[in-house]
Amino acid sequence: MLAFIGNGSAFNTKRGNNGAFMKEDTQLFLIDCGSSTFHRLVEKGVLEGVEEVTVLITHLHPDHVGSLGDLIFYSYFKLQPAFTSKVNVMAPAAIMDDLRSLLKAVGVTEEQHTLTTIEGEAREVSLCGVKKVEPVNVEHARELDCFGYILQLERERIYYSGDANMIPTAVLTQLERGELQAVYQDCCKADYEGNVHLSLRALDELIEPNHRKRVWCMHLDEGFSIEEAKELGFQVVEAI
Ligand SMILES: [Zn+2]
Ligand SMILES: [Zn+2]
Repeated sequence: MLAFIGNGSAFNTKRGNNGAFMKEDTQLFLIDCGSSTFHRLVEKGVLEGVEEVTVLITHLHPDHVGSLGDLIFYSYFKLQPAFTSKVNVMAPAAIMDDLRSLLKAVGVTEEQHTLTTIEGEAREVSLCGVKKVEPVNVEHARELDCFGYILQLERERIYYSGDANMIPTAVLTQLERGELQAVYQDCCKADYEGNVHLSLRALDELIEPNHRKRVWCMHLDEGFSIEEAKELGFQVVEAI
């Protein structure tokens, strides 16, 4: 299962920017690195003893990549052995050029990190119990390409939505067939035409009650009621 460094939406400063991680020995696997993420990683001691970091990126909004440069600099200068590249940033080809430009624009150099493009449908990895990452196109903001991921772990298969105002049909089918042990879904209280996130009302309409125990709400906005979500049978992620 995933741990969370933050479970809030972009403006929900109390909860911190949504981001998940898994840590194993000296390896850290992180999904996104939003504006508040680096600060929290240091504050919570998550980076202690880490020698290798892989960051999987869902999309380029600041609450998902805002402190990626800080993480790369810190890993390069502060984590031992110092002055070695420790962060590998992984993303689909569709966003890789913009990601490369963004890091270059904030002064991150090529010797301080590596970039791995996920070509095609999936990429085999061996990171903190993650065996395979499979990008899934999701709808979020019109201006940006956004991805969710199906992650093959050692004993389970899970879906992580990134930011999305929908759930792909293939994901819903796999959830219904029992092929996904957990679905982590961007979910909010706000509910209006043109919403770039998925409201709890919409989630309630999409998921049959008997599957809700495997559906975890994340990226919570200020108005989100954890009680209401739980009463409907959903789970809600907690940050460390
Ligand atoms: Zn977001
Ligand atoms: Zn976003």
